[in-house]
Amino acid sequence: MKKDEKNRQEPAVSCPSAVKEQKCSGTADSLDAFLEQQKMDGRMQKIKHKIIVLSGKGGVGKSTVAVNLSISLSLSGKKVGLLDVDIHGPSIPKMLKLEDSRISVIDGVIQPVEKGGMKILSIGFLLHDRDDAVIWRGPMKAGVIKQFLSDVAWGELDYLIIDSPPGTGDEPLSVCQMLKNPDGAVIVTTPQDVAIVDVRKSINFCRQLKIPVIGVIENMSGFVCPKCGEITQIFKTGGGEKMAVEMKVPFLGRIPIDSAIGVACDAGTPFIYHYNKTETGKAFEQIIEPILALTEPEKAVS
Ligand code: ADP
Repeated sequence: MKKDEKNRQEPAVSCPSAVKEQKCSGTADSLDAFLEQQKMDGRMQKIKHKIIVLSGKGGVGKSTVAVNLSISLSLSGKKVGLLDVDIHGPSIPKMLKLEDSRISVIDGVIQPVEKGGMKILSIGFLLHDRDDAVIWRGPMKAGVIKQFLSDVAWGELDYLIIDSPPGTGDEPLSVCQMLKNPDGAVIVTTPQDVAIVDVRKSINFCRQLKIPVIGVIENMSGFVCPKCGEITQIFKTGGGEKMAVEMKVPFLGRIPIDSAIGVACDAGTPFIYHYNKTETGKAFEQIIEPILALTEPEKAVS
């Protein structure tokens, strides 16, 4: 028996009813709420940088960016955690070939799954069957997200990257409200106008919640020929950059459509790990430079 096995328990967040039992309704000044908040603050204080990856629409490559950004940071020698709060469509387990992984709880603390030196947590690790649909209302989702931030053995991290579902709904709202002083949001879009209309909403969402926008990434911008490597502009490009200028937020860069990304995601072998010497790999690395350059937030004096 392994050292910690005797202390292992089944996760208490494995079904909606478990979440329902949580005290979500305590008043702000109740002792419970105060202690809960203290616990979360204690965990979050050990994480230097918290970054939320947002998108206005689904399918624009938000999870792909979150995974590759995390791995890039990890390859740069940083201690990284990746939290997937896409409760209805968690794709991180698939992208990292962790579909069969399950989390465990030791002494009441959720243990994230570890791979390649990264700590990873996804609602997908709680589903008994990967095809299960999660049908939860807002407070249940907020309860799980809160647990994922406060009851998890994240330990000391340089970066926690949070993959949020598309849009401006319950999950991104909960994360943004619960995280005190996140470094900000990275917003992923595609160059087309239909995606850009929604990304403006994501930027305004960040502004309303006073979350800094680290920058916008224009994904699927041009197409890399799998034979010769030349990039062809099959759709219009530059929409993300133009919008970023108009909205006065930084533009982090473009990532082309590269069949190697799709293949790598499907195979659970992260693109950036195997293809960092390609043009697309270099584009990814350039994009993370401003994120690597983030300075450590000032510690609050208590
Ligand atoms: P989202 O999180 O925005 O819903 P995903 O990251 O799940 O989107 O990406 C959707 C699909 O698009 C995945 O199959 C992924 O492999 C593919 N994909 C994302 N970005 C690219 C790209 N630049 N080139 C090729 N395929 C991509």
